[in-house]
Amino acid sequence: MTVEVAPEVRAAQRRIVSTINASGRLNADGLALWREVNCGEWKATAADISRDLDLLQVPHTIVTAFRFPLATAYSKAMREGEEVRILRKDLAHLVPWMPSMEQTVADIPEDAPHWDFTVFQPRADGMVIAKLALSAEWPAWSKKQARAARLVCAECDYDLREFKDEARMPFDVRLPERPKARRLVCGQCCNDGVDEMERLAALAGKPS
Ligand SMILES: [Zn+2]
Repeated sequence: MTVEVAPEVRAAQRRIVSTINASGRLNADGLALWREVNCGEWKATAADISRDLDLLQVPHTIVTAFRFPLATAYSKAMREGEEVRILRKDLAHLVPWMPSMEQTVADIPEDAPHWDFTVFQPRADGMVIAKLALSAEWPAWSKKQARAARLVCAECDYDLREFKDEARMPFDVRLPERPKARRLVCGQCCNDGVDEMERLAALAGKPS
């Protein structure tokens, strides 16, 4: 069967294939393409990528996602970006345009990391689970980059991306003088957040 493909669709296919080859990040949840906010005219923005994917009828979403600050940057704040994400189950829609994708998806390792980076947040009334808005490439960052993103324990420098040692899960235990600044600490260094929960409960005037 020969399918007529409109020139604008062909053009979208060419752009998408080269964008994915250059900056696609694949893990257990699917494919992600990150763009820094205000990345400049020389690079396709998340909106450009989204338009092309619409033309190719590939379902996707755009989420806000942060990357570690660059070592050379004056600001130590995380870099804000937008990430175009295609769920693993929807990658089949990409295969007709990019046949190599089929094997790439089949080759995703069983223990590949997921998109979410979950942390525990002690509150006065209990423990809450929160997800950090990180770019899908966080598992691939070097330890130095993870440190810049404050994904290591603020007390002992343990790399909190491991999620293997149950005694060292990430807890968001903030300094009393900086209640708005996220501060991750491993479970071992904060008694699994229990002390912080009691401190907050006492502050709120509730019996702990
Ligand atoms: Zn620690």
